Amino acid sequence: MSPKLSETIKDWNAFEITALPLRGARPVKGLKRGRAVSAGELLAIQPEPGLGDVQATTNGLVEEISEIEIIIRRDDQAVGQPPDPQPLKNLYGNFLARALKKLGLDVPVIQTGGPIILSSLDPEPGLTLAPALYTEHRETILAGLEAAARLWPSHRFIRAVGKPGDLSSKSDGVVVNKKYPFTLPAVLKNTILGLNDPTGSGVLTGRELFLLGRVWRTGRPLTISPLTLGRSNYFIPIGSRVIDLLTFANLMPGPGDAVVRGGLVLGQSLSRLEEGLDQSAAALHLIRGVEKSAACEPCRACGDCARACPAGLAIDRLAGGNPDEWPDRINRPQLTGCLLCGACALACPAGRPLLSLARLLTQGR
Ligand code: SF4
Ligand code: SF4
Repeated sequence: MSPKLSETIKDWNAFEITALPLRGARPVKGLKRGRAVSAGELLAIQPEPGLGDVQATTNGLVEEISEIEIIIRRDDQAVGQPPDPQPLKNLYGNFLARALKKLGLDVPVIQTGGPIILSSLDPEPGLTLAPALYTEHRETILAGLEAAARLWPSHRFIRAVGKPGDLSSKSDGVVVNKKYPFTLPAVLKNTILGLNDPTGSGVLTGRELFLLGRVWRTGRPLTISPLTLGRSNYFIPIGSRVIDLLTFANLMPGPGDAVVRGGLVLGQSLSRLEEGLDQSAAALHLIRGVEKSAACEPCRACGDCARACPAGLAIDRLAGGNPDEWPDRINRPQLTGCLLCGACALACPAGRPLLSLARLLTQGR
């Protein structure tokens, strides 16, 4: 049974500090240490298409501005320049995309043309948000669908669901295998449209629809995002620091443990626990004893990795030898059609680092 999605982190006040990642955004003129800011106030402009501008997510005082983040110390009495709700309902296409970006939302850049897949499935193990978002926050998901139709008016939408009962009619979408790796955007795209695209661009997850629906419904800046934290799900203020979230969930790492941002297969290990999470962080996990388990066994030539590959690639033929020597020994690229899904690594009984091998063999493709 999926964990219950709580309305918000109950001990919201515990977060004294938010560290808002800049991701290349430039702080607005006049922003300096000590200035009071209001929740939702614009703090930095994002030049990168597809990424939202940066807003304060709590009332507070600017404590520090660096190349990578803006630190806000929470102060409920602080008042800066609170934003007004923005009228969005008459906007379409690029005009709507620009307005959403100004409200802090990452709006995917989707090339004109092909269909957009709307997935109601969590992409990989360790992400457990979708069932709760689709049941407890259905109205916001529906608002996300309405906004998506306005944003990409010339696209056809295809729903991808895990069971026939989730479709009102056959023409409403397709039923897909709800087991990983078939739930990954790249693999969904390959399965439904026959397109090989390891980025999975053109697939919107339930989490992305929720965020879109939230801004569309309120016309207000995005200040929270849903996060799987260990075995539970929460809405967290954007910019919540990893260290505070781990402390809250009683998940402090010890020697040899790893903190992973994202799912349990494709997630990335974090080295700086003071960093704040942006809206793209779907999960945070503590993995115990990673260093011990990192030592893999020799390849058993069992072929499980190749059998698990949704692209039908014979990665077992490349998986022998000492992984430390792979970067020098292996000519790359040579894994044409790899979706970088990690299913081979998950299937390997010897714990061989096959996702690293797949990345190595697709470099420069
Ligand atoms: S080789 Fe591995 S990472 Fe690449 S598509 Fe196959 S299972 Fe996925
Ligand atoms: S699953 Fe692991 S042990 Fe089996 S062939 Fe593939 S790399 Fe070798």
